[in-house]
Amino acid sequence: MTYNFDRFLKYDEMVSWLHDLQKQFPGLVALETYGKSHKGRDLWIATVTDTSTGTHNTKPAHWIDANIHATEATGSVAALFILDFLANNFGKHDQVTEALRTRTFYIVPRVNPDGAEDALLDRPLYHRSSVRSWPWRDGHRWPGLSVEDIDGDGTIRTMRVPDVDGAWMEHDEDSRVMVAVGPLGAPSGKTRYRLLDEGVLENFDGFTIPMPRDPSGLDLNRNFPAGWGTTVLGSGDHPMSEPEVDALVRAARSRTNVCGYNAFHTAGGFMLRPSSTRADSTLPPFDIWVFNELGKVGVQHTGYPVHSVYEDLTWDKSDTMSGAGDDWAYEHLGVFGWTTEFWDAIYHATGKHSPTDVWYVGPTPEQDLAVCKWTDTHAPGSYVAWKKFDHPQLGPVEIGGCDFFRTWTNAPPSKLRDEVKEHVHFALFQALASPRIEIKLADAQSVGDGVWRVRVGIANTGWLSTEISAWAHKHNIVLPLTAQIEGVDTSDIIDGAPRVKLGQLDGRVRFRVSGDAKSDGTPDRVMHSWLVRGKKGQTITLTATHQRAGTAVASVVLP
Ligand SMILES: [Zn+2]
Repeated sequence: MTYNFDRFLKYDEMVSWLHDLQKQFPGLVALETYGKSHKGRDLWIATVTDTSTGTHNTKPAHWIDANIHATEATGSVAALFILDFLANNFGKHDQVTEALRTRTFYIVPRVNPDGAEDALLDRPLYHRSSVRSWPWRDGHRWPGLSVEDIDGDGTIRTMRVPDVDGAWMEHDEDSRVMVAVGPLGAPSGKTRYRLLDEGVLENFDGFTIPMPRDPSGLDLNRNFPAGWGTTVLGSGDHPMSEPEVDALVRAARSRTNVCGYNAFHTAGGFMLRPSSTRADSTLPPFDIWVFNELGKVGVQHTGYPVHSVYEDLTWDKSDTMSGAGDDWAYEHLGVFGWTTEFWDAIYHATGKHSPTDVWYVGPTPEQDLAVCKWTDTHAPGSYVAWKKFDHPQLGPVEIGGCDFFRTWTNAPPSKLRDEVKEHVHFALFQALASPRIEIKLADAQSVGDGVWRVRVGIANTGWLSTEISAWAHKHNIVLPLTAQIEGVDTSDIIDGAPRVKLGQLDGRVRFRVSGDAKSDGTPDRVMHSWLVRGKKGQTITLTATHQRAGTAVASVVLP
């Protein structure tokens, strides 16, 4: 099956594409399921590494997941693109080759297959996340608007109803764009409209139109354990109450080598970083500095600006969003977690990035008009003229305006590949920034009487420390490096145990934040030695293991 990253794949197509890739690159790509969705769909994770240089769990890893929010399908395209790029460029592209020799990627292309499948139906249903009924378990609809594709054109647009009190009127330059009626009302002669999502009305009383929540009211990206709270919309019954999040948390936590995390979402065209609930001033300054250093490279590659969710995107600081994946990755795994919000329609149409309050105030009339005109060239059919429709409850209405799913929420097909492709370089950079354990010295010297001193010198040759973040250090999240000697009986080890704890090793990032001392020392190295009884010619195996930074093995023959 060929796929050019120019459309959204339904679940079966995606799974078959994944299996094709695995068959094509058996030494690089492995597929596993890590759980089942609410409706019983297998949840897939792809592991990408050069298995000839070690199994995936002996190398530090970078985690990517996508499409936890049902309609944010561009995230899946990005995850699949990265998977494909890594597999196809091993041995051709230096950074890919180095990354797959020394690191592992775990890629979950679709966290929430049930919700995504509904969004990709011929007559789509758009949910925030999964399809499970919540908080009401029976899935009933409360009176009011029930959003659906009532004219069967394959997308959910806007209905407009003439109303002298309406809050909207046509843009003077293009009737497909509706602009807000201000405090002084509409100019005379302008028709005012009430706007509604396309849909039917349950129990319509002829006058009021309540806006009940979709019966599938969960937000899986509020169901992670970090900061979980009952006041957050859609957060679920308790942390990890949803099978998709439970499975993901367990899958990531059991892969103890995860050193970096990136969740793919839409839209906005920016990269978000923790915290969603805390001010930067309460976080370790070192971690903010690292986020900024990583972010700079992200911006270089992708053009996406970096924002703290709390500092830059939270209007009301007393009402924060919690239980999100990136906060969980930072607070519970202690790794630098990102939420990439793909696609900024305003940027493509105007050359200027969306303002950070766009989630609250929406586009200006000028921005909306610019996007409308831009789609006429790049995504024809996104904005359509208003068409009369005989509504079952409202009578004559008009349906038209834009296809939000393929205009604002996601990149249109013609732009999908271009939008996601540079993000592979940020993923590679994050992977290569991880700590990595190597054995740099392994020897044995006879001290007489059949006794040898066996030494192992271990280094973290990565950029980050083996603990990754100051947060992880503060919260005691990461287990220490260990070194083990094998090939001798325990009773032949004269001084101590065969396996020892050696603490954490700094990465060379430490030398950058030492106030320009230019005097490094070796906080990235550690040496350990054992006194052992043995025989000349005997082979001793030395293993250095760190849950994050990988495993290294060396052999020594007693001389
Ligand atoms: Zn999202």
